[in-house]
Amino acid sequence: RIVYVNGDYLPEDAARVSVFDRGFLFADAVYEVTSVLGGRLIDFDGHAARLERSLGELGMPMPMPRDSLLAVHRDLVARNSIEDGLIYLQVTRGAADRDFAYPDADTPQTVVLFTQAKPGLADTPAAREGIRVVSLPDLRWGRRDIKTVQLLYPSMAKMEARARGADDAWMIEDGAVTEGTSNNAYIVKDGRIVTRGLGHEILSGITRAAVLRLAREAQMQIEERPFTLDEARAADEAFVTSASAFVLPVIEIDGAAVGGGTPGPVARRLREIYIDESRRAAL
Ligand code: PMP
Repeated sequence: RIVYVNGDYLPEDAARVSVFDRGFLFADAVYEVTSVLGGRLIDFDGHAARLERSLGELGMPMPMPRDSLLAVHRDLVARNSIEDGLIYLQVTRGAADRDFAYPDADTPQTVVLFTQAKPGLADTPAAREGIRVVSLPDLRWGRRDIKTVQLLYPSMAKMEARARGADDAWMIEDGAVTEGTSNNAYIVKDGRIVTRGLGHEILSGITRAAVLRLAREAQMQIEERPFTLDEARAADEAFVTSASAFVLPVIEIDGAAVGGGTPGPVARRLREIYIDESRRAAL
């Protein structure tokens, strides 16, 4: 695999990042994951815009202009012959002697990108059959709107979900669902789509924005508000969205079937519309 590190395209074994990198020592870094379908990038502009915002919230600039970033993404797709897959991008505050205070603003940022081939990304067993989730307390920090690489609690939650025979966790704060470990969460009741509104409590999903826009265009009713686990258990359908999985039906919460325990029509339709539209608009 060819990866990108600070301006160079290198075989993955030859790529190096300093042990003093603040991404490694402090999780002082942000990331993006963009999917690739048919060799083209899905929602690239949304991911670039959110990257700029995340960096800005941490007092960092964009390491390169949007057009250069697009060129690097495209180069990596071509060099690795990616048809369907993902591109991971990470930007850190760079390497400096270990100190909680940020280093000088002229410290070079570290920029790393790599690809993950995922043949058949648009048609997975999880998409066809749905996933099972368990509820867990949301013990993450209070700025989940910034897409930092501080992902240990979501990893722990994912492992706990697996240990309980499920696929993922829905995290709960103050009695309401925040989001999944790496996706936004939705329920459908009486034809209305309910998902938590944006704020510091959740990541502003790029897929969430696109799916809600397409749902509105299809005249579906949307309520952006917190929902409880009880509401989720009583819902007609549940689903999640993310750049790497698009729209995935949720068929079980804490061992109890949602709706009929099979993927529901709203989730299926939104998945289809989203993937069709995304392929059309891909870069
Ligand atoms: N919430 C969290 C916590 C996530 O990690 C992700 C995926 N990175 C999402 C939501 C979904 O965001 P997106 O649609 O931009 O992938």
